[in-house]
Amino acid sequence: MKHLLSIGDLDRAGIERICDRAAAFESVGGQDIKKVPALRGRTVLNLFYESSTRTRSSFELAAKRLSADVVNFVASGSSVEKGESLKDTVLTLSAHRPDVIVIRCPWAGGPELLPRWTDAAIINAGDGKHEHPTQALLDVYTLRRRLGNLDGVKIWIVGDVLHSRVARSGIVAFQQMGASVTLAGPPTLMPREAESLGVEVRTTLDGLREADVVYALRMQHERMDDAFVPSLREYASVYQVNARRLGARQLLMHPGPVNRGVELSGDVVDSPQSLILEQVAAGVVVRMAVLYEVLAASRSGDPITEPQPA
Ligand code: ASP
Repeated sequence: MKHLLSIGDLDRAGIERICDRAAAFESVGGQDIKKVPALRGRTVLNLFYESSTRTRSSFELAAKRLSADVVNFVASGSSVEKGESLKDTVLTLSAHRPDVIVIRCPWAGGPELLPRWTDAAIINAGDGKHEHPTQALLDVYTLRRRLGNLDGVKIWIVGDVLHSRVARSGIVAFQQMGASVTLAGPPTLMPREAESLGVEVRTTLDGLREADVVYALRMQHERMDDAFVPSLREYASVYQVNARRLGARQLLMHPGPVNRGVELSGDVVDSPQSLILEQVAAGVVVRMAVLYEVLAASRSGDPITEPQPA
C-alpha cells in the first residue's frame, strides 16, 4: 500500500494485517524507552489545516516511537494565512523531502491531489466530511481487542451521520470485518445515500438495546451552515445516549471530542462500558502500523520485520 487515502484502499486482510501489526507495537509503549528504530532516518510531515487533538498527537507520537523525524505544520501561523495554496504549500514542504505526508483538511478529496505534487506517501487524517480511514482502523482494532472479532457484531452509529467522516469510513471497515451496521439519528442528519450503504436506517433510538456496540457521533457544528435540529436540548432529549438508554452489556464508543450533555451524558462517558480512552490509546499503535505499512511498501525487498528496541 503506497498511500492510505480511503478505507476502501484496504480489504479485510489488509485491515487485519494492520491490526495485527498494531498489536505487535503495543509492547513499545510499555518500555522505559518507548522507541524502536523501524523508521529511523525517515521524515514524517504532519500537515494539518483543521484542528485536531487526538489524531495529530497520536500521529506525532507514532512517528517518534518508530524513530522517524517529524515536522508538524499547522495552517494557522503559516503562509497559508498569506494566501498560499495547498499546491504551493505541498510543493514547498516537499522540498524538505518528506517520506510521508499526513494530511487533515476541510476539503473532501484534498488528500487525493497530493500525489501529483510529491513523491511522499500520503495518509488521509480526515478530509472534510468525506473520510477518516485511520479512525476506522483504530475503531476496528479497539473492538477486536475487546471482542476477539467483529463477525456478527451489531453496531449502531448514532447522531450526526450527515457530516461525519468517521461514520463514512467506519461503516465500510465494520462491514468488511463482518459486523452489521445500523445508522440512527434525525432524518435531517442522515445522508441521502444512507440506505445504499448496506446499513439499516432508524430515525429513533427505539431498539437501541439490540446493539452490541453503540457508536455515538459528535454534532459537527463547524460543518453546519443551517439549523439541522430545532435546538440542542431537543436533540438531546430524543437522541442522547445516556444511562437510561444504554444497556449494561453494551459497549460505548465515540471518536472524540465529546460534547458532554449533548450526544452523550457525562455518566456514560465515564462508565466502564465506555471504550473512548481505549480508542485514543489504540490511535498510537494503529498509526504506527499505518506509517510502517506505507513506508515498508515503498522499500519493498527491504521489509522491516519485528520491532526491535532502539
Ligand atoms: N475527531 C473526529 C474527526 O476529526 C470526530 C469529530 O471531530 O467529531 O472527524
